[in-house]
Amino acid sequence: TEEMLRNTEKLVFAGQIAVGIAHEIRNPLTTVKGMLQLSGKGTHLRHYDLIMSELERMNLIVSEFLILGKPQVVQFREERCMPILEEVLNLFEIQAALSCITLNCTMNADHMIRCDRNQIKQVFMNILKNAVEALPFGGSVQIELDDEAGYQLIRFTDDGIGMTEEVLGRIGEPFHTTKADGNGLGMMIVKKIIEAHAGRLVITSRVNEGTTVDIYLPISKT
Ligand code: ADP
Ligand code: MG
Repeated sequence: TEEMLRNTEKLVFAGQIAVGIAHEIRNPLTTVKGMLQLSGKGTHLRHYDLIMSELERMNLIVSEFLILGKPQVVQFREERCMPILEEVLNLFEIQAALSCITLNCTMNADHMIRCDRNQIKQVFMNILKNAVEALPFGGSVQIELDDEAGYQLIRFTDDGIGMTEEVLGRIGEPFHTTKADGNGLGMMIVKKIIEAHAGRLVITSRVNEGTTVDIYLPISKT
């Protein structure tokens, strides 16, 4: 528990630093982008598009961190999981089909939970995105809704590339990614949101077998 506490403190601290840096970087980044836009337009500046798109990528990362640090307008309401999940699944349907991935959903229990709908959507999206990215040659993602000891369980299981214990141990650490085009922020955001909902996150994985991400959210008493 002490170790857990220390890890949480580290995560919070890392988050604060990241937000601080994001603030500092934002202004010069905007300036550089603007100046490049002014001087690059109409000229034949080499790699203009590449530079612009890389700047845009930096911008996105910076914005993501600023959102993290900002006290967002969170609205906790009584909601059921399934409709939120369905909305997210709809977004992934086409991408999954194109990548030869089958999405299966089994619902054994769908309780009321007190949550911010947008944040929970973000959680489902980040996890599904990782599942899809773990299946470069297709496969399946199973989603199960169940209950366990006063918690609503949402379980995502993919039969993808899986991860080593080292990667698993560092999951949620900002910027820790094994992907060439990853940013290592997705699971940090997931962790932060689940914590804010007094929930729990349990991940198990085996290399070349797949990954299971379990989210537990407290069932509303009312
Ligand atoms: P990103 O996806 O940008 O790399 P994340 O925080 O979402 O950042 O994930 C961090 C790392 O955790 C990934 O780079 C990957 O190595 C590992 N990971 C997360 N989800 C899965 C999964 N479903 N299967 C295999 N590896 C995963
Ligand atoms: Mg990700």
